[in-house]
Amino acid sequence: MRLLIMGPQGVGKGTQAAKLAEHFGIPAISTGDIFRYNLKNQTELGKQAQAFIDKGELVPDELTNSIVKDRLAMDDAQGGWILDGYPRNASQVEALDTMLEELGTPLDAVVALDADHDVLMERMMKRAEIEGRADDTPEVIAKRLEVYAAETAPLLNIYADRGVLVKINGVGDIDAIQANIVAELTK
Ligand code: ADP
Repeated sequence: MRLLIMGPQGVGKGTQAAKLAEHFGIPAISTGDIFRYNLKNQTELGKQAQAFIDKGELVPDELTNSIVKDRLAMDDAQGGWILDGYPRNASQVEALDTMLEELGTPLDAVVALDADHDVLMERMMKRAEIEGRADDTPEVIAKRLEVYAAETAPLLNIYADRGVLVKINGVGDIDAIQANIVAELTK
């Protein structure tokens, strides 16, 4: 299984990605998590990405594409994966297309989770309290949602045109949403 999970901030991508990873026995790969790990450990990559993440902007494509390429080349990714938080703009879609062509492994499906704006804001504010992520301030959250609407949401049309888009309602019981995704994917 090679999957993307897409949707706005707060829709539950990370939660559902972890469950799908367990269900299918594949790694969940989150570009956000990779960046946060590198920030925490103050690696060269972390230092380069910090200013962008702090502002809620996208990290430059060159940097992001290369970390995904490296991650997909690792041993545990040979039998499939689920990508969370990538691609986020049209140029990343192109880069991923090229990577997958080189690897000879097409995408199986793109899971698009959705929820109303109010639900998203509420969940993000709650997460901010619990996790204390530095980029979960109201201003930076608003910026991330703006970037999502402008650059990432339009990508869903690309995958819909390719016939691989699976739309799922992200509101409801976590396990019920998961069951819904699995049912759609194994149809
Ligand atoms: P959220 O979905 O709440 O925005 P993520 O963990 O997915 O959180 O991303 C956090 C930050 O990491 C983003 O605001 C962005 O700066 C950076 N980032 C993550 N994925 C990408 C990507 N594909 N391209 C560029 N920047 C990214």
